Amino acid sequence: MLTNSIIDEVNRREAALRVIKSILQTKGRKGFYDLTGLAGGFPILSEDKALLETYAGPAVFDDAIQTVGKIHLGGDKVLALNRTSSGILASVLAIVKPGDEVAHYLPKSPAHPSIPRSAELVGASYIEFDKIEEFKVEDNTSLVFITGSTMDHEIITQEDFRRVIEICKAKNIPVAVDDASGARLRTIVYRQPRAIDMGADIAITSTDKLMDGPRGGLMSGKGEIMQLVKSKAHQFGLEAQAPLVAAMVRALENLSPEKILMAFSAKHELKEALNNQFSMVKETPTGIMLTPEAIEFELRQIETETDLESDDLAYLFAMILLRDHGIITIPAVGMPGASAAIRIDLAANDAERIGSKEIAEAFKKTFTKLQSVANNEEESKKILYS
Ligand SMILES: *Cc1c(COP(=O)(O)O)cnc(C)c1O
Repeated sequence: MLTNSIIDEVNRREAALRVIKSILQTKGRKGFYDLTGLAGGFPILSEDKALLETYAGPAVFDDAIQTVGKIHLGGDKVLALNRTSSGILASVLAIVKPGDEVAHYLPKSPAHPSIPRSAELVGASYIEFDKIEEFKVEDNTSLVFITGSTMDHEIITQEDFRRVIEICKAKNIPVAVDDASGARLRTIVYRQPRAIDMGADIAITSTDKLMDGPRGGLMSGKGEIMQLVKSKAHQFGLEAQAPLVAAMVRALENLSPEKILMAFSAKHELKEALNNQFSMVKETPTGIMLTPEAIEFELRQIETETDLESDDLAYLFAMILLRDHGIITIPAVGMPGASAAIRIDLAANDAERIGSKEIAEAFKKTFTKLQSVANNEEESKKILYS
């Protein structure tokens, strides 16, 4: 195995950032294509900047985020946080006690690591379900998470969502929804109601997923519970500061369902273009995905010898795609614990600059190179970490 620890994951991410920096220096911003769907945009206006230099910043933007946040998520009270993970942690700190259980229903495991890690931090047990028939709560379950759309964009059905809420309501257990990408994918693409409108107590979304905002967490929910979460967030410095909140407000004002819907229809063409080479390529709501298992399968088909695990093959694929073709995907730049699946998100801004044929060609060449290094540990390590 080439990736054995969080440290290896951090080293890979840093190697990827070095590659991006060197592309920027030689070719400029047009030298790479960020197709992660995580834009990290910072669309503040020039008049906003002046406000950030005074005490007016928090006064103005904390107020504005209440309005636009409620339009997006529903609920009574909005809280802006540094990340979705920060919001998940703040909810667990506020609601869960040592010895409690945190249960989680999601359309397909694994969960985002922030949920089990937060449970562990407060000394609670954690249980995860991805089959609705099996979902259950115990007497000591004090918080239930629902994931609306997983890291790989598997979407919960409205029926399953409502079923989990029903089970929790019957026992008075609060429900928090990890709707990082789901707040847009579920509602815009699949026309599901907002999480809070289906009875969730808390919903949290990521302002850089499928929208052109900064990396940040936007949470909304019922007044009383939000007051508790907010107080924990402030105690531990999890809340977003005025500059981040300002950018979140502007990004929410600019939110355009059209781009997401266009990506939803453009993905078929990309899948077709990739199908010749990758028989197991899958469609996601706004793009395509090649799982680590799919990559391993293709290598086996052509009898490539390798001792590498499927995740390592996916990380290698992502790093070659970046180094040779300037295409950024999450397995190259993601935080530790992020999914190893190669996902192309056509709702990303940079998707306008690159066509399906070009992406398919880059995938083909990347696969050929992967095949040539899959049995060469030294070369593989160089690609991952140097
Ligand atoms: C992205 C994501 C998160 C974490 O978002 P951060 O802003 O990186 O903390 C949590 N859950 C899911 C399902 C996600 O897709």
